[in-house]
Amino acid sequence: MKIAIVGCGDRSVRLMKIFDQYAFQEIHPLVVAVVDIAPDAPGVQIALQKGIPVFADYQELLPRTDIDLIIELTGKDDIFNDLLRRKSKSVRIISSQTVKLFWELAYASRLQEQTSRELNETRAKCKMIMDELIQEEVMIIDQDYTIADINKHLLNKLGLKKEEVIGRRCFEITHHRDTPCSGENHPCPLIETLQSAMPSQTTHIHLDRHNRQIYYSISTYPIIERGDVTGAIEIARDITREINVQKTLMQQEKMASIGRLSAGVAHEINNPLTTILTSAMLVQEELRQDDPNYEELQIIANETLRCRKIVSSLLDFARQHKPHKKMVNLNEIITESVLLTHKQAAFKDITVQSRLAPQVPDQMLDKGQIEQALINLILNAVEATPEGGTVSISTDLMPGGDAIHVAVADTGSGIEKDYLDKIFEPFFTTKESGTGLGLSITHGILEQHGGTISVESTVGQGTCFNIHLPIAKGQADDTKHTRSGGGR
Ligand code: ADP
Ligand code: MG
Repeated sequence: MKIAIVGCGDRSVRLMKIFDQYAFQEIHPLVVAVVDIAPDAPGVQIALQKGIPVFADYQELLPRTDIDLIIELTGKDDIFNDLLRRKSKSVRIISSQTVKLFWELAYASRLQEQTSRELNETRAKCKMIMDELIQEEVMIIDQDYTIADINKHLLNKLGLKKEEVIGRRCFEITHHRDTPCSGENHPCPLIETLQSAMPSQTTHIHLDRHNRQIYYSISTYPIIERGDVTGAIEIARDITREINVQKTLMQQEKMASIGRLSAGVAHEINNPLTTILTSAMLVQEELRQDDPNYEELQIIANETLRCRKIVSSLLDFARQHKPHKKMVNLNEIITESVLLTHKQAAFKDITVQSRLAPQVPDQMLDKGQIEQALINLILNAVEATPEGGTVSISTDLMPGGDAIHVAVADTGSGIEKDYLDKIFEPFFTTKESGTGLGLSITHGILEQHGGTISVESTVGQGTCFNIHLPIAKGQADDTKHTRSGGGR
């Protein structure tokens, strides 16, 4: 397309540059003449450099038929009208106004393209931050609780696809409820953020499939658009580990002070108890068996003996020795513990089954202490199981071979959910003549061996205590001369 430009100001320069640089698809513009009365006009300079013919008077263009298009850039109506009237019929013409319009349109569409490119880039960045960088679970929630976006972590955790979640309501997806969360364990932080336009934070407690408590710290931040809260970003983080570490520390501190206290009290009580017992027995010796006081004195002696038993387990609890470890086989310790508790089980017609893994290696253990721990568990199981029930003990080598798992399971009464985190506390008992010290001693012993103990229980069906003991082979008995003092 052959073009003549009339008026060689800055705009003509821009046009010529575009014609030069841009690869046009359908037309191939070529400037064949420029017109301006000023010989130093910028467009004239360019035309001269490129060897394009320059004219001072637009009338020179009128007779020409080799031109396809005249672009009028002077902005002067009389020139445009004159050209329009007198140009050859085959020549088309556009005014500087039309050029301006196209110029604006081009600018607007470029701006739009840029904004949408920037928007796409921002979206991609947000997605990357939500899915890859933030290790927490994130949702973007609208004012009416519908989920507008959700990150990969939360989707993986829920086992759902994005399209199954977007548009549904947050409480349906994360809590399987049909109304917003509420109540002590599930306060809704979103409501507060939507109302106050301020960030809010709360903790939710969930139960996993083993009935273990999982703590979630949930934070919400308002999304504010043109001064209004239109939704919120909700970030949830599993803080169970932190909470458990905190709980363990508190528990250890509590145990240590209870230990010190018990040691002191037990000591003080032991001597008077011995005096009561011997005095009662001495007086009893003086009496005939049919004396009415004889029976009463027997009761005093028996009850005092019971107190001494409690005091002795208190001392066991308080003065736990550091373990004296030797290479022993856990399976053998289990077999002995079963033998030692045989009488109590047989008395209630309870079958004690053991299923021991054949290749359990010897390991460094304090035999006496581990035996005590196992006996505590077996006796508890026997006590919780009705006549004719079963108690089973099993050992398994953990994959990797660096720990042994021992399970002591029963078909007994089970433990109420509220009691589950209390049973390892000293003095917690649900039995009339219990001391509540068995499990706390067991817990302490396993701790001293670098092991762990946990419990799973269903009321009415039974209980299983799981022990994990690391296998530390050939480690020297470095604790021979030390004692743990008053507490743990
Ligand atoms: P104690 O046996 O003297 O009560 P423990 O520390 O051995 O003290 O146990 C604490 C409590 O834990 C028991 O009173 C009982 O409520 C509960 N418990 C322990 N083991 C079992 C079990 N196998 N089945 C049901 N409850 C159990
Ligand atoms: Mg017990």
